[in-house]
Amino acid sequence: MAKNEEYIRKPDWLKIKINTNESYTGLKKLMREKSLNTVCEEARCPNIHECWSERKTATFMILGDTCTRGCRFCAVKTGLPTELDWGEPARVAESVKIMGLQHVVVTAVARDDLKDGGAAVFAETVRRIREANPGCTIEILPSDMKGDYESLTTLMSSAPDIFNHNIETVRRLTRRVRARAMYDRSLQLLKRVKEIAPDTPTKSSMMVGLGETKEEILETMDDLLAHDVDIMTIGQYLQPTKKHLKVERYYHPDEFEELKEIALSKGFSHCESGPLVRSSYHADEQVNAASAQRRIKYMKGYEEQEKTEVNFTF
Ligand code: SF4
Repeated sequence: MAKNEEYIRKPDWLKIKINTNESYTGLKKLMREKSLNTVCEEARCPNIHECWSERKTATFMILGDTCTRGCRFCAVKTGLPTELDWGEPARVAESVKIMGLQHVVVTAVARDDLKDGGAAVFAETVRRIREANPGCTIEILPSDMKGDYESLTTLMSSAPDIFNHNIETVRRLTRRVRARAMYDRSLQLLKRVKEIAPDTPTKSSMMVGLGETKEEILETMDDLLAHDVDIMTIGQYLQPTKKHLKVERYYHPDEFEELKEIALSKGFSHCESGPLVRSSYHADEQVNAASAQRRIKYMKGYEEQEKTEVNFTF
């Protein structure tokens, strides 16, 4: 475990394969033509070459390219956003169609300048994607919308297939890492989704390497489970620029594996954990795995019920 004197040297397992093939350049062109943003580019995601070149997938970032918050881990531009673009939902839907996606992840910048946090445009985007792409599953990754439940209800009226909201870090570090968010507010938001739509799987992601302890990571897992979160992803924090928080330590792939095993044993239906794992990394596979787990759980519940019924009969 290295100590962060100045900058810790990046370990070999974080070296990225650069691949800018036709699929990569084609996706870039499509995003520019449609005036769309992706979190892959804006957040400088380390997986962009794999996702765009090999998996032909991307995570759309709607409501503009400027975020009203200024989280100290995130590379997305901060400032006062421009007006809302009501043409954006249709352009996202059309791009999903052109890309032929079976599963799409849509996230958004935090729009604290808007009364509904952008929920109406977000919901419209989900509806437009569904209309143009029946059969494509839709995962949404919104901000906490300042914990406004009316905005959440507006968003959930579009019936996304997966609701994803990131806890990002442990309770103790939340203020330092994302000053304008609140740990408990994020947990409440996830819980509320289950109250509105009990069958919608919920998902949350955290970064490690910001100075948290193992006990704090396990507490975060417990907190998420206590708020009925089904899927968890865990990835290494990487410092996007010198202005952002430094990496306190790099976790070894074996440690990620151990965290995954702990998460599953604690009760998550699926956990993706690895140095380069991001909330939307291999999201399509996570959906399939989570639905399979849900089916197993359901069948187990059904068998138990049958047993109970038999016991009653006797
Ligand atoms: S992991 Fe997500 S954000 Fe990163 S490149 Fe892949 S789809 Fe984009």
